[in-house]
Amino acid sequence: MTEVQATVEKARSAARWWGGLSYNERRSRLLAWKRHIARHIGELAALVAEETGKPQDDAALEVMLAVEHLDWAARNAGKVLGRHRVPSGMLAANHVATLEYLPLGVIGVIGPWNYPVYTPLGSVSYALAAGNAVVFKPSEHTPRTGAWLADAWATAVPGEPVLQAVLGDGAVGAELTWSGVDKIAFTGSAATARKVMATCAETLTPLVVEGGGKDAMIVAADADLDAAARAAAFGGFGNAGQTCAGVERVYVERSVYPEFLGKLSALAVGEQTMTTPEQPAIVRAHVEDAVSRGGRAVVGGPSSITASTVAPVVLAEVPEDSIAVTEETFGPTLVVNPVDSVDEAVQLTNASKYGLAASIFSKDSHGATRIARKLRTGAASVNAVLGFAGVPSLPFGGVGDSGFGRIHGADGLREFSRAQAVTRQRFAAPMDLMRLDRDPKVMQRALRLFHFRHGR
Ligand code: NDP
Repeated sequence: MTEVQATVEKARSAARWWGGLSYNERRSRLLAWKRHIARHIGELAALVAEETGKPQDDAALEVMLAVEHLDWAARNAGKVLGRHRVPSGMLAANHVATLEYLPLGVIGVIGPWNYPVYTPLGSVSYALAAGNAVVFKPSEHTPRTGAWLADAWATAVPGEPVLQAVLGDGAVGAELTWSGVDKIAFTGSAATARKVMATCAETLTPLVVEGGGKDAMIVAADADLDAAARAAAFGGFGNAGQTCAGVERVYVERSVYPEFLGKLSALAVGEQTMTTPEQPAIVRAHVEDAVSRGGRAVVGGPSSITASTVAPVVLAEVPEDSIAVTEETFGPTLVVNPVDSVDEAVQLTNASKYGLAASIFSKDSHGATRIARKLRTGAASVNAVLGFAGVPSLPFGGVGDSGFGRIHGADGLREFSRAQAVTRQRFAAPMDLMRLDRDPKVMQRALRLFHFRHGR
């Protein structure tokens, strides 16, 4: 038996214990884990900073957000998932109908390196709160962070191994996918998601995919340009641009385009470290493609990207078929293109194969919220970027190459559950149609009622 198989076996028996606890019993244990993480935030943030190369304060912010979600999942699982009555309808008025969302069993969570706490815990916390055991495969670039989270669980909730980590490269992820777990929660690139889905098809294992993005910001002519530029800089250059729902494209109404470019360029400063050795070459290829197709490098250029560090790059008037526009860059670059109208910006935003999130800046915030409805994305922020990331009651996930299924919020709890419908007959039906010796007169009466109810 391999290590992954042995770990999943142990998780199976832990899942029986954990799934058998009441919501309140799980809640108190989840909150003990939360307190442990919160009390050791300095230690965890230092480890994340060491493994990813991001500043420690950014790592601490990531932990703070993750803990907020964990707290919400722990406190709301009973309310969202617990058995509750639903209307039984006319045909079954003699039954009491109830619905509960029960645990699936063991969830395999496969995580990325860019936010090695916040992102996997978006699945782990909600899966645990829904009553499942979890086997977590962190990215090979952030194994110690993954192990830390599992160790923290073992310290805070000693006994059954409800959360375990398996360490290694993609082959370990593939093995976990094969292992017969009850669901896989995958976060990473669309290319790897396709491989994971192919394996899940073989074993009929359900899957939730949190993929990448090519998120756009739309800046209307009436927007607060200082606020929009600050948000674009944070969303585009923060975490060295390695944010799945960060800003990669900005569409600005033509009348304010030069002014916005000026304000953004003034904020495009600071060298950062990229987490993986492969990523700088990808970022450089995107910048070179944009420039070779006639895009203007307003700040920086291909030379801003060295083997280990990157400085912000602002690219203007980039053709929409450049890979800097069509592919996820995952580096501190922003493509800023002018548009004739907000409608054109919506159309270009939706032209992407990705559909994770977007942001809209306009003084007419209600109008901007209406524009959000036209976007083919899983989330949108008005007059901010990543506003949804810190709202644990909101679901998160994408469409198209950005994935399917949802983590976070009530939808995120249900994602790791199976709905179980139960009816309890209270009294015999006055018109009983569910019997072999059905009375034809009763059927005729039922048909008359049916026509009256639905056929008028
Ligand atoms: P990858 O797709 O390369 O890897 C994701 C995870 O899958 C890693 O743990 C990886 O292991 C593992 N893996 C690799 N091959 C397989 C396989 N055949 N079967 C099962 N698991 C496998 O993504 P990155 O880790 O490089 O992360 C960057 C990508 O993730 C970006 O595209 C980014 O946008 C996206 N992302 C999406 C987020 C979201 O919430 N929507 C959040 C964060 C990132 P190993 O690392 O050891 O190779």
